This record gives sequence, C-alpha cells and structure tokens, in this order.
Amino acid sequence: MNHTNVDPKELFKRTASILRPEISRRETWAVIGVGSGGARVAEEAARFGIGTILLVDRPDERLEQHNVIRHVLGFPDLGRLKTEALADHLLNIHPDTRVEAISLDVVADRDQLTEIVGRATQVHLCTDNEPSKHVVNEVAVKAGSPLVFAGVFDGGCGGEVGRVSAGGACYACMAAYLNRSSAPDDRQAHAETFDYSNPAGNERSTAALNLDIAQIALIQARVGLMTMLGRLDRSADLSGNYVLFGNRTVEGLFPRPLSSEIWQIPRDPHCLVCGATDMTETELDDAYERIIADAMCKEPRC
Ligand SMILES: [Zn+2]
Repeated sequence: MNHTNVDPKELFKRTASILRPEISRRETWAVIGVGSGGARVAEEAARFGIGTILLVDRPDERLEQHNVIRHVLGFPDLGRLKTEALADHLLNIHPDTRVEAISLDVVADRDQLTEIVGRATQVHLCTDNEPSKHVVNEVAVKAGSPLVFAGVFDGGCGGEVGRVSAGGACYACMAAYLNRSSAPDDRQAHAETFDYSNPAGNERSTAALNLDIAQIALIQARVGLMTMLGRLDRSADLSGNYVLFGNRTVEGLFPRPLSSEIWQIPRDPHCLVCGATDMTETELDDAYERIIADAMCKEPRC
C-alpha cells in the first residue's frame, strides 16, 4: 500500500477538534480478542488516529463464514488469521497507523502478555471467557496499565463496559461486586461472551445480532477515547468506572430500550489482585492461580 499520499491534516480535517490526533498518535492500544466486539473497537481506534494498535488473538483464530455476518471483515478474508486480516482493514482506514498482529494464548503465556500490556497506554479486553479476563486484569493491574473491558449479555439484550484504572476497582473487584458467576438467578451472572465467533461456545450466543454487539463495542471505544482525552481535561472523562447499557427492555434490569446507567463500583480492599496485602509473592501467585482455576470451572465448556 502506498502511504505517501496520506495527509494527516486532510485525514483528520473534520474530526481533529474532538479527537486531538496529535495526542492519539502517541498512544498504543492493545486490543485483546478480535472477534466481533474487539474488531469494532480496533476499527474505532484506527479512526481515532491511535498511533500503534496491537491486535491479539488466540493462535490459529481464523475468519469463518459464520463470523462474517457479525464482523467488520468480509468474505475476501475467509480463512485468514483474524489479526492479520484486521490489520489490513485498519490500514485501509488509516494507513499511517502501526498495526501488529499477535497470535497469543493469554492464559498460557503470561510473559508475552506482560510484554504487550507493558507497551500499551490502554488495554482493551474483548475476550470471550472469564479465565482470560482475569489473567489480563491481573497483568494490567500489575503493570499499572488502564484497562477497558466489555461484555454482552445473554442474547444481546444489553451489555457492560468497565474501566480499571490505578487505585480503583479492578475486574476482580467488579466481578465480586456484581456477584458474577454466583447464584443462577443473579441477573448479572448471565453476562455472555463478547466474541460470539467460537462454534464450540455457548449456543445461546447465536441470538445476539451484530448491532447488539456493536452497540456495546462502540461504548467501549468511547470509554477508551474519554480515558485518553480525560488525562488532559477531566471534564471530558467518564464520571464512573462501569457503564450498563440496555439494547432491549429486560424486566428488572433495563426499564426501556436504549437505557443506560453509569456506576462507580468501589474497590474491594481485600481484593487479591489490586488490594494491599501482606501475602508473600509465592502466596499471591498461588492465590492468582486459584482465581484463574475457579474462573475456568465456571466456564460452560468445563
Ligand atoms: Zn481488585
């Protein structure tokens, strides 16, 4: 691709006053999981003018026909690694963005994950299962990297976007606060995956439409943008760390379609991931392992 004709002034002519491309080009965003939700976040990051975008997905995660109807990629990319095909898609929108396609099992290779998170000014967590969410949370908290995560609820009725920043509640704190994966009748326990592309995954996920997922992904991207711009102007930032959004009416949860709430979820002072503790490094590592193992056992595939 010939990049010599890209004129940043012209490219951001209509958006520069909102986006501040002179800031975004110095940013590095890691998007972990590039299914329908993550790909949408990555596409917005390219449109924001983010300088470097790291696309991470599981090894050999390729685009299949059933993905296409709910993904920014299309038929010409069938059979390609999603990370590599998405990298081309992003460069087609913003040719000066540096994009890296990385194949990584984040649960199995924490060293490489730590290196990726360490490079990122912002981490977007878009994976489809609890163990990977807990691992990325743990690594981001240790590195002090801002983390934005998202999830789409059962059938795409709505979803959530959370932000983990230094000194605030981490994903483990929020999951505990929301009583996630506890009582089966707990409405929050029905949080579904964000990437519905895994054919071996939960069949209920087929009920979610692309626009249900995209609606939540765009909120995730917006929270990322607000986080970036909020460093310069606090009034531009999100006043809270958790957004709940209803695509459709759900009795007891979403009183009307397109309803939203913003919460400030408190940090759990006893949280093993982000809380102060007098445990030794070895005891902490053991405790983390138990959190991950516990999350794995709550996966529907176990
Ligand atoms: Zn925590």
